[in-house]
Amino acid sequence: MRASHIILICFFLLEFAAVGNSQPPLPNILLFLVDDMGWQDTSVPFWDKPTPFNRRFYTPNMERLAREGMQFTQAYATPVCSPTRVSLITGMNAARHRVTNWTLRKNTSTDGQHPSLKFPEWNVNGLSPEAGIERTVQATPLPALLKQACYFTIHCGKAHFGAIGTPGENPLNLGFDVNIAGHAAGAPQSYRGLENFGNEEGEAPSVWAVPGLEKYHGQDIFLTEALTREAIAALDQAQENGRPFFLYMAHYAVHTPIMADPRFYQKYLDTGLDSIEARYASMVEGMDKSLGDLMAYLDEKGVADNTVILFMSDNGGLSAVARGGEPHTHNKPLSSGKGSAHEGGIREPMLVKWPGVVKPGSSNDNYLIIEDFFPTILEIAGLSKAPTIQQTDGVSFLPLLRGEGQTDPDRPLFWHFPNEWGPQGPGIGAFSAVRQGNWKLIYYHASRTFELFNLKRDIGEANNLAGRKGRKVKALAGILSTYMESVEAQMPVEKESGQVVPLPSQALKE
Ligand code: CA
Repeated sequence: MRASHIILICFFLLEFAAVGNSQPPLPNILLFLVDDMGWQDTSVPFWDKPTPFNRRFYTPNMERLAREGMQFTQAYATPVCSPTRVSLITGMNAARHRVTNWTLRKNTSTDGQHPSLKFPEWNVNGLSPEAGIERTVQATPLPALLKQACYFTIHCGKAHFGAIGTPGENPLNLGFDVNIAGHAAGAPQSYRGLENFGNEEGEAPSVWAVPGLEKYHGQDIFLTEALTREAIAALDQAQENGRPFFLYMAHYAVHTPIMADPRFYQKYLDTGLDSIEARYASMVEGMDKSLGDLMAYLDEKGVADNTVILFMSDNGGLSAVARGGEPHTHNKPLSSGKGSAHEGGIREPMLVKWPGVVKPGSSNDNYLIIEDFFPTILEIAGLSKAPTIQQTDGVSFLPLLRGEGQTDPDRPLFWHFPNEWGPQGPGIGAFSAVRQGNWKLIYYHASRTFELFNLKRDIGEANNLAGRKGRKVKALAGILSTYMESVEAQMPVEKESGQVVPLPSQALKE
């Protein structure tokens, strides 16, 4: 259907709804996704007590969001960028969609070399809205469904859904009406307007150069601020055309390169942080200012009461050091960080505000996972029965937002990463994992070994109970294997034997 037809239909539908007044207006939806932000990289405590990191970072607008909404203390994503983003807009678990590692170039795996494992033919080209694109998962993306329901759909920032040269690299092909600065790459060459965000004059741009912000080139402006201004301009457009909006505000911050946001940098140096820590903290505060500016805009336009704000990060803070030097963040008390099966890699800071629905200042300890955003947002938009090409895994957390009910304690969550990310650290390496209740089982593909943790008693995953709790290991390995079989989860091959790495239940028997 042509865009002009959609706008015309929406005009009549929305006018009819306004005249009939039988239904409340569709809520606006602001999904604020930060890149690589850790669980402790904020002045909002997500643990049961504040940590030194909560005192290091200053995020007053996240604090405001927490006061006005609900914080989730056990919200999960996948350990790296693309799998999370594909799960988010398809509702599929990574084991099912097979975009299990990060994407960039067509038909090119980003897996590192491994001494004993050969990695599977995963969907290196990412998500595709079209059939017949090799090594992609074809799915009906969330923004396309929202657009059909008359939402004005805005993509702002990092996309990272599909490889260069495939339809999925362009957010406009995924159902967004507007694309601001999104493309295949998952990091910016530069955050600085003075450096044209990495676009070198007279040269072919690097794959990391941020597209589409030419009007800010040569200006002393940080990328986070330029994106926020452009997002607000797009929200003005939504106001003018009278459509509810879906703003996917997906900041490049706080991903590497760790560059100082000059508006906030000096004060962190003054507190005694070293250079890279201070640069990182300034990027976090710049991101937080963006959140505050958007909230102020909603207030000013009188639409805050009819806007749902969901705040999330796409994986844990980058605590592993890839190329020497000091880490700029930690995630403690959680173990490890980005790329890891441990909580530091997958547990995220999550906040939701929805006036009249979500109880202000509330906290929720129920666990949920990134693919749950898909059915939740559809339900918020009244689209829970929307047909999709793909079979989904997510479960709506709207009951949790309403304060009704709890996550079924028997509900298993799954992670699957048959890949090599690169940096080393606890819990990093090809793995599959399951959480059920307070128990988490991790199965490492290279060594065929297990870790079992009780997260309620051992949030830092220091005590591996796999050797002592054989029955629990067996039960969880069974649940994990059954799911992996059901989605035909891809496994690495052992180079020496040529054998596919066995599923966890099988590994226990061998
Ligand atoms: Ca990320």
